[in-house]
Amino acid sequence: MAVGVILNRMFRTKENPLFEYIFQQQEDINECYFILPIEDLSNASTLKKQFYFGSLQRFHDELTELKLSPFVMKYDDVITFCQQHQITEVVIAGDIMSYHHETYDILHQRQVYNKAHIKVTLIRGHHYFQPSRTKNKQQNYYQVFTSFYKQWRPFLRTQTLYHYDLKELQPIVVSASGDYNSIYSNEGTTQQHEQDKWQQFLKYNINSYTRGRDYLPQLQTSQLSIALAYGLLDINEIFNDLLQMYDHSEENYEAFIRELMFREFYYILMTAYPESSYQAFKEKYRQIEWSDNQLHFDKWQQGQTGFPIIDAAMAELKQTGFMHNRMRMVVSQFLTKDLFIDWTLGEDAFRKYLIDYDAASNIHGWQWSASTGTDAVPYFRMFSPIRQSERFDKHAYYIKQYLPQLEAIDAKYLHDTHKYYQNICKQGVTIGVDYPEQIVDHNVQRQYVLETFKKLT
Ligand SMILES: Cc1cc2nc3c(=O)[nH]c(=O)nc-3n(C[C@H](O)[C@H](O)[C@H](O)COP(=O)(O)OP(=O)(O)OC[C@H]3O[C@@H](n4cnc5c(N)ncnc54)[C@H](O)[C@@H]3O)c2cc1C
Repeated sequence: MAVGVILNRMFRTKENPLFEYIFQQQEDINECYFILPIEDLSNASTLKKQFYFGSLQRFHDELTELKLSPFVMKYDDVITFCQQHQITEVVIAGDIMSYHHETYDILHQRQVYNKAHIKVTLIRGHHYFQPSRTKNKQQNYYQVFTSFYKQWRPFLRTQTLYHYDLKELQPIVVSASGDYNSIYSNEGTTQQHEQDKWQQFLKYNINSYTRGRDYLPQLQTSQLSIALAYGLLDINEIFNDLLQMYDHSEENYEAFIRELMFREFYYILMTAYPESSYQAFKEKYRQIEWSDNQLHFDKWQQGQTGFPIIDAAMAELKQTGFMHNRMRMVVSQFLTKDLFIDWTLGEDAFRKYLIDYDAASNIHGWQWSASTGTDAVPYFRMFSPIRQSERFDKHAYYIKQYLPQLEAIDAKYLHDTHKYYQNICKQGVTIGVDYPEQIVDHNVQRQYVLETFKKLT
């Protein structure tokens, strides 16, 4: 029997359940092909492309060094490749949420393989929980995070990890003869590098996680989202570390575990309700008539809203391919509430730029902000960008880091450029010329949003 192992976004040689599966089944396998399908990232930002292709290249090279060189090809060519090599079964991580296009996800891919009469073996490679096993007593999926967390948090256990030796697979693995050379081969990262970063985080920042996670001027969170989106680290291994070291600082470890449980929760919701990727989870809000003000959307996306905290966050996104969690909440609320623009447009913009893009966390993060999702923020709780700026970037360090044109202005004026128009002008920046005027009045918009939601509630 010939088997194909689909390795996209499972960029790890160690702790990889797909390899373990092949290792266990090797007696029945005559030929095994490691396949690395490439995603179409033509509409992604350059930073995201660099990261994806660079990491893919490094993973390819690691396997090649082990004399297990994978076959790199476009997704569209995988079926033909399987047919040419009489592959009758493919092994795939069926729980990946971070594809750039949804056509690569298991819902779509399964149909493609089924049509070609190729058996699909699904293995969990990105998440801890199996969705169908997380239902409540009424056999429904949890729709409120706190109930899900309360029920399933005690089930997190340290686990024995995978047993396999990749070298022992050499006799059955057919190695690709051609080379693969991406133009981004110096970019991206490796499992080892991400593992080292994670260990550093465990040594230092996790011990002040509850305090540090909202600190904007300097990122104090783990950036594990990036490693997880590309399958560079194994979630079971992460939970093992957290549970084993839990006593070091219970409060901080628990807070961190809680965030990872959010990731599980959103993954389960996306699996159970895939339609939530394009429509409001709450039915009553499906008829919202969002604003079609293209100019507002463009200004949000370009970081030209006149609210420095929002514009700095959008600059962070473009310059780094990342955005701080606090700011993801603030800019998404600004788009969906202050500008009253459809969350799906914001979700799509984030997909283009976020290196750690994950459909489940992104979609449900956006629906949370737009008040249309499960367990969403109630519509009447609407962030004020001015207040958020005062609270989380009091000294405007974050603002000035990403908007250097405001460097010379006193921090206290930068939270509300409309109110302090003249003071800012005196310090050398003319609002409307050197930096944009605020595109909306938060208080006016707030009234409009409250009234509109109230009518539908
Ligand atoms: C509008 C919006 C869009 C988002 N889009 C994404 C996305 O595309 N990809 C993504 O991974 N996360 C997304 N998040 C969740 C969160 O912002 C990121 O996971 C987090 O900022 C990543 O940084 P970190 O790894 O340093 O986080 P840490 O604070 O170190 O958290 C550790 C891990 O917990 C998980 N986590 C933390 N917060 C959340 C959360 N709110 N929801 C789900 N999981 C969480 C992540 O896996 C994260 O890596 C989004 C949140 C919002 C509000």
